[in-house]
Parts: sequence; C-alpha cells; structure tokens
Amino acid sequence: MPADTKLFVCYIPGLDRRRVDEQTTPYVHSLLQDHPSCRLQAIPSTELTPTLLTGVGPGKNKVWQVSIKDAAPLSPIGKLISLLPEMVTTTAQCFMHLIDNTNDLSAVPWWRRRQFNLHRMKYTRRETDPNCLDEIGGYSSILKQLGPDDAGYVFCKRFADMEHGLTVFPREGKRLDFVEFYGFDLYSHWHLDQMDMIKEKMAYVDGFVKRLHQRCKDAGVTLILLVDHGQEPIRSSINLKKVLKNSGVPRDEYVYFCEVSAVRFWFKTDRARTRITKLLEGVDNTTLKDHKQMHKVGICFDDIRFGELYCFANHGHTFFPHDFYNPLANLFLGITDSLLRPRFFNARHRGNHGHLPDHPAEEGYLILGDQGYDVAGEKMELTDFAPTVLSLLGEKPAAHMTGTPIFTQASLTQQKAS
Ligand SMILES: [Zn+2]
Repeated sequence: MPADTKLFVCYIPGLDRRRVDEQTTPYVHSLLQDHPSCRLQAIPSTELTPTLLTGVGPGKNKVWQVSIKDAAPLSPIGKLISLLPEMVTTTAQCFMHLIDNTNDLSAVPWWRRRQFNLHRMKYTRRETDPNCLDEIGGYSSILKQLGPDDAGYVFCKRFADMEHGLTVFPREGKRLDFVEFYGFDLYSHWHLDQMDMIKEKMAYVDGFVKRLHQRCKDAGVTLILLVDHGQEPIRSSINLKKVLKNSGVPRDEYVYFCEVSAVRFWFKTDRARTRITKLLEGVDNTTLKDHKQMHKVGICFDDIRFGELYCFANHGHTFFPHDFYNPLANLFLGITDSLLRPRFFNARHRGNHGHLPDHPAEEGYLILGDQGYDVAGEKMELTDFAPTVLSLLGEKPAAHMTGTPIFTQASLTQQKAS
C-alpha cells in the first residue's frame, strides 16, 4: 500500500456468515463476492479483542478469565461468611459492583471468588479506558505500535452509536481507526431465538456498512470489515452446579469457574479428580479437555494455574446457572438495558459462541474494501490480524507478532508471477 494509506477497521462481532445472504444483507454479501476476503478461525473464548490487537493468544496476553491462587487461610469472619448461603454473598457483591464496577465477577460465590486472580478484559473497561488496550500482559498492541496520534480505538455498544458513528467516522488524521460495534453481538445473545428480529437488525447493520464504506471511500480511507465469530441458537441448558452438588465430593476438595460455554476445574485431591472427571464424562452435550489438549485449540498455558480440566458445552447448549448469574442482577439488567430485555423473562442466553472451535459459529471473516489485493490463504488465525493490519500500513510487525499478513498487493503478486 502507498505510504499514506489509512485504514478503518469496522469490527462487528457476531455477524454470522451463515446468515449473510443476498436478501437480508445484500451489501456485505456483495463485498464477500467481489472483494478480497478470508475466513477467520476463533479460539474458545468470548474475549477475542486482546488477541486481535496484540497478535498473541491468551497463553501469552493472559486474558483468560481467572487463574487459581493460594488464598490466605480464612479469618474467623471469613469462616462466618463462608457459611452464608451463596445467594446472600453474591447479592451483596452485586450491590457492591453497582457502586464500584471494578468489583468484577460479583455473581461468583465469595468462597470461590477469593481463590481467583482475575484476568478479564471486559468491554466496560475498553469503553471507559481504551488505553488499557495499548499493552496487554506485557505485549504491545498495534495501537501502541502506531501511537496515539496515528491510531485509536472506539467502543460502540448501542445501535444509536452506529448512527452517530456515520457522522464522525472515519476520523481525520488517523492512519488506523479501530471501531468495535458490539451492539449486534449483544443483541444476538438475547434474541437469536427470534430470527425475524435478528434479520431486521442484520439488514440495518448491512445498510450501515454500506454507508460507512461510502464515507471511507470519500475520505480516501480503506475499510476493513472484521467479524471474528458468529453465534449458534441455544436449544437447552445444562445444570452442572446441581451435578457437582450431588457428586458427594466435599466442596473444599476442588474449585471450579463456570462460564456460559465452559467450566474449568482445579482439583485438590485425587478423589475429587477421579470422581468428578468420571461424573463429567457422563454429562450429555459436553466435551472434556485437559489443559494440554487445550493447546490444540490455541489455548497454550504451560501449567494448570488457568485451569486443569475443562468441560465445554457443545454448540446449541450452555451451562445454567453459571457464574455470571444472580437473579436480582439479572432482573436489574433486564429492566434497565433494552438490548438485554429478554433476560427479564428468562435468564438463559438465546445465542452463544466461545465454545470449542470445530463449528461455524466460531468462524468469522475479514473483508478488505480495496480490490487491488490478493489473499494469501483461505483461512487465517486471530493472531494473523495484527501483522495483516500493520503490513497494509507499511509497518513492520513487532517481534512477538508471529502471525502472517494475509493480504498482498495484487500487482506485486503479478510481477512475481511474470
Ligand atoms: Zn458475544
């Protein structure tokens, strides 16, 4: 690309390629037909932005929910708190979260939460403090590499933010604008059982991309449409907490952390390891992976601090109740946030992603709004995104970004061939 290239990354998670078609989303459909594009393989996580921006996976940037720590012995007051019903401690924690939203994971019962180090990059943090994306786990991101004058990140949650975005984006002077439009993914999590409503929003998003692309063209900026995953409708939920409660294994012999799509375990006795593993093998619609098997799906930790054994819900299923669920907090969210309204009636997700990767819901795509490029491969990894952006801008990726740029200038390829 010429030295004065400018890029606008329009990041729309959840815009599932299986539902992109000529009728619902004619513009994105046509971009996929006649512009350079590549399929994108996600990792089994709902937090993909840190990997996209740093070019290294969770094994390095460490954004992987929680790790286990040696919690201090319980004080006499701690012993009393640990005897309280879980509902009492989680509700108190949720109220504390209302006052101070850095009090994360407030729906996790106190006796388990005190055993965790937190390694999360919530969207609320990205929204209020975009600088937290400069360096993640000690790895610099593409934003830091380009510097604050040349590159910027903006988080947009509401559909109204998209409309406003069409009056301000692309921003003048930026070589890289990276804008995350999160609203559609959030909406899909709670409405994927109502396909007519999803299609209506998809049609809006399609028109938005069309108008944004035109604004980029007018400003001499190249658009990249980035979708890093889709979503699968949820058919049933699995009550793993009940299974564990009935296991007969005392709760102080193991620790677990239950996300919507996966539960991870650490065992403190062989009895707990053997009994619970056997029990999990019999739970329908789940798949077990130990921490070494997770390396094959892009989650490479050297030890078991971030999880010893993982139980994944298969696509179309989730765990419920999970560690983000508190009945009162759920009602509060259902009432106060219009994107989450269906929570009020039923707290179970309607669509989800972040399960094991062998499924189309865990696949996204990248489209380059400039036809003068060739694509180096059919499918890219999340870690290829950072070097791809930097190479389009004529910049050398940082040493830790070991992925491969996937777009090459067509004229160069033709020259090589001749
Ligand atoms: Zn999501």
